[in-house]
Amino acid sequence: MAETQILSGKVVSEAVYAGLEDRIDSLKNNHSAVPGLAAVIVGEDPASQVYVRNKTRRFSKLNLHSETIRLPEETSQEELLTTINTLNNDPVFHGILVQLPLPKHIDTDVVINAINPGKDVDGFHPINVGKLLIGDPTGFAPCTPAGVQELLLRSGVEIAGAHVVILGRGNIVGKPLAALLLQKAAGADATVTLCHSRTSNLAAHCLRADILIAAMGQPQFVTAAMVKPGATVIDVGVNRIDDSAAKNGTRLVGDVDFDAVRPIAGRITPNPGGVGPMTIALLLRNTVRAAASARGLNIES
Ligand code: NAP
Repeated sequence: MAETQILSGKVVSEAVYAGLEDRIDSLKNNHSAVPGLAAVIVGEDPASQVYVRNKTRRFSKLNLHSETIRLPEETSQEELLTTINTLNNDPVFHGILVQLPLPKHIDTDVVINAINPGKDVDGFHPINVGKLLIGDPTGFAPCTPAGVQELLLRSGVEIAGAHVVILGRGNIVGKPLAALLLQKAAGADATVTLCHSRTSNLAAHCLRADILIAAMGQPQFVTAAMVKPGATVIDVGVNRIDDSAAKNGTRLVGDVDFDAVRPIAGRITPNPGGVGPMTIALLLRNTVRAAASARGLNIES
């Protein structure tokens, strides 16, 4: 059998950035618009701090504007809504992201609903979720699902007509990814099976997948016995597990047992280095699109 192709998000995301350069230059030079992102973090969750740092780093590298607004854990919902309202009205920021999870005393839905849908570059606002479902390209697709789609397309994986099995029906990954890939549209047209914790005979569904996407948050759940030979396997999961050999006693693994699945799969994402970098690239692309849209230009790049 041919050697398994590794779908590197690190490599493919660079192509996404390169593809945005002309549009960014044109926005800056012809429309006096520097795409700008406001990232809001509430509390001290260390993982959130790392995520936001990684997300905003690329903005600086491309000379785009980004600011991180750090609010204390005890920030009230009203105070957070006031911050969002200020950002909604600040023309410097074309995109707003509120890093999740929020502290328990804050209602996440209320906060997401308060973001101007035209600045909702995470694609979580109900308006954007609705646009995604009906296939309206003027909305913002959430960054991780859009990143998975882009990774597949740029790696030459045929999505049209493929049977895609997605493990996980979360609102951030599984559900929007299913909506993206089943559209009657270029880069989609898949037959999608969406599995979850109540799915019976999960392994049998997995074995029928041409493209198997794991987004459950279950460490190394997908084993070799669940993968059809030659299938494309995409690992979205991020899980911290104990590892006495690691420096701090833990390490990150995905939802796929990479070493066991790799010899069976036709293509597989590494984890880390697969979906993560694509998520960041699509956040940047959404922000560039939001900046274009704010200038009355076509959102499509
Ligand atoms: P989520 O909202 O918690 O959803 C998890 C889904 O997995 C649920 O639908 C759940 O089923 C299902 N599930 C859990 N255990 C299962 C099992 N044993 N068998 C079958 N289904 C099971 O999670 P999420 O926000 O979508 O995130 C999923 C994973 O992606 C997490 O590891 C997260 O860290 C990762 N992630 C990565 C990126 C990235 O950039 N790489 C971005 C976002 C998220 P029920 O609905 O029945 O409970």
